[in-house]
Amino acid sequence: MIELRFGDITNFKGEAIVNAANSTLLGGGGVDGAIHRAAGKGLLEECKTLGGCKTGVAKITRGYNLKAQFVIHTVGPIWQGGNSGEAELLASCYKKSLELAFSHRIKSIAFPNISTGVYRFPKDEAAKVAISTAQEFVEEHPEMEIYFYCFDLENYNIYQKLMG
Ligand code: ADP
Repeated sequence: MIELRFGDITNFKGEAIVNAANSTLLGGGGVDGAIHRAAGKGLLEECKTLGGCKTGVAKITRGYNLKAQFVIHTVGPIWQGGNSGEAELLASCYKKSLELAFSHRIKSIAFPNISTGVYRFPKDEAAKVAISTAQEFVEEHPEMEIYFYCFDLENYNIYQKLMG
């Protein structure tokens, strides 16, 4: 099942939320800052032990003060014009996050619109990658509940159109 939601991902009441982190995993702006603020300083302490994260890869921590029990941190690609493997790296963020969730028996997971903020990935193209990767995964794992949290109306409208 894939569902579209509008709003702040830190309010998600399922098992895991995904963080669009940077490669240091030590916090930043945008959704990353919001997640660290809502989770509290325990999250940063755990992140410090992880040794960063490469683009297109995912790592898991506990959720601390969040309602979600886990945070899956993934590092989206910075948009460079489209010929530097950005689409494949973005797909890898979604796929690796879902695989990590599955291996931890997590059945409900919420994603932000990875890379579409300060990393400037075109929103329309990013949404297509996110939706097709999620669809492929739920075909193999029909028990998985995937929620796309859009925080801006532009992304929400794009997702609504693509998801029908
Ligand atoms: P990136 O560096 O991957 O581009 P950003 O955090 O700058 O990450 O933006 C990614 C997306 O997260 C953007 O579409 C932005 O609107 C959205 N966003 C920002 N804050 C939140 C939040 N609290 N909940 C959900 N999405 C958010």
